[in-house]
Amino acid sequence: MRTLKVNLDKKTLSSYEIRIGEGILDRMILLIAKNHKAGHYVIVTDSNVDKIYGQTMLDALTQAGLKSSLIKIPAGESSKNIATVMDIAGKLLLAGAGRETLLIALGGGVVGDLTGFVASVFMRSVPYIQIPTTLVGQVDSAIGGKTAVDLPQGKNLLGTFYQPRAVFADLNFLGTLPDQEFNNGLAEIIKYGIIEDEKMFKFLEDNMDAVKSRDSDHLLKIIETCCRIKKSIVEIDEREQGLRRILNFGHTLGHALEALSDYALPHGEGVALGMIAAAKLSARMHYLSEDELTRVERVIAQAGLPTRISAALDSKAVIARLKMDKKKKGDVIHFVLIKKLGMPFVNGSISDQLIGEVLEEMKA
Ligand code: ADP
Ligand code: ZN
Repeated sequence: MRTLKVNLDKKTLSSYEIRIGEGILDRMILLIAKNHKAGHYVIVTDSNVDKIYGQTMLDALTQAGLKSSLIKIPAGESSKNIATVMDIAGKLLLAGAGRETLLIALGGGVVGDLTGFVASVFMRSVPYIQIPTTLVGQVDSAIGGKTAVDLPQGKNLLGTFYQPRAVFADLNFLGTLPDQEFNNGLAEIIKYGIIEDEKMFKFLEDNMDAVKSRDSDHLLKIIETCCRIKKSIVEIDEREQGLRRILNFGHTLGHALEALSDYALPHGEGVALGMIAAAKLSARMHYLSEDELTRVERVIAQAGLPTRISAALDSKAVIARLKMDKKKKGDVIHFVLIKKLGMPFVNGSISDQLIGEVLEEMKA
């Protein structure tokens, strides 16, 4: 088991440990019992994860002598709303939960974001622990303390910054993950390579087959590297006032494409296309070399992620959607671009015309 420490504000005692390993359930439970004492442990999970892992987790806590319960929500992004928050809160009260309760988020990003949100407001906040069961959760969403639910008007519009007390990433969970969910995680992993770690990028280029076959040694190395990168960024900019924005590499256009597809396009595919667009923009503006642009496109293709957008897609509609998102966030569209692999920067002055040209170039 590897341990990474996330060093945050000492005054608020919000520092915590990320533990990564394969088959670490027993040690996880021991550590929870020893370091995170609570009167009542409540697992929050979704219907899919519950079927595979719910009972095992509940039994493990109970056998360790911990008072435990489990709350289940329907799987899927459509659960990530305020009605589910009220449902969870109601069930917590029914189960007799109070301030001495600790929540355990067992699941992917949806469960993690929701549980973190509930933990941040239930009884004016109770502690929570993240046990991410998806690759996206393990390398990205479970770390950093962003919690949220969606509103009818858009995703993640209601949320808090609220750090977990610990994160446990067990590779064993990934064995049952559907391919598409695994690919969503791969897109985020490639992103970390592009923005922060040329060495890991190279490792992905050289070992994509082993990674795709979910070889544990390869995954362990990559997940640890990604957690290290994310934690370092969060340590410097916990509340996304600057540096943390580079984590949005590929996400500006990715989100627009996802929204335009009515979320039929998986997040990882949106991000893959967004990363290619960002790399192309970087090359057109003479920051990125053609050689590195080719490497970005190639590794995304190697991962089995898309590199081309549908010829039927209207570039103008994409640009209009980008502007809609921009209005929400302030003045201009901020694209994260790269000068080379591992060297990102934020650019707020890209013309619609250039974006349009890049989109046309990406059409199949
Ligand atoms: P993400 O982590 O990608 O943000 P979700 O929380 O929506 O997304 O999880 C993606 C899907 O994968 C959900 O349907 C969830 O129930 C399912 N899932 C999560 N973890 C596992 C797992 N370890 N094995 C199988 N399915 C899982
Ligand atoms: Zn993402």
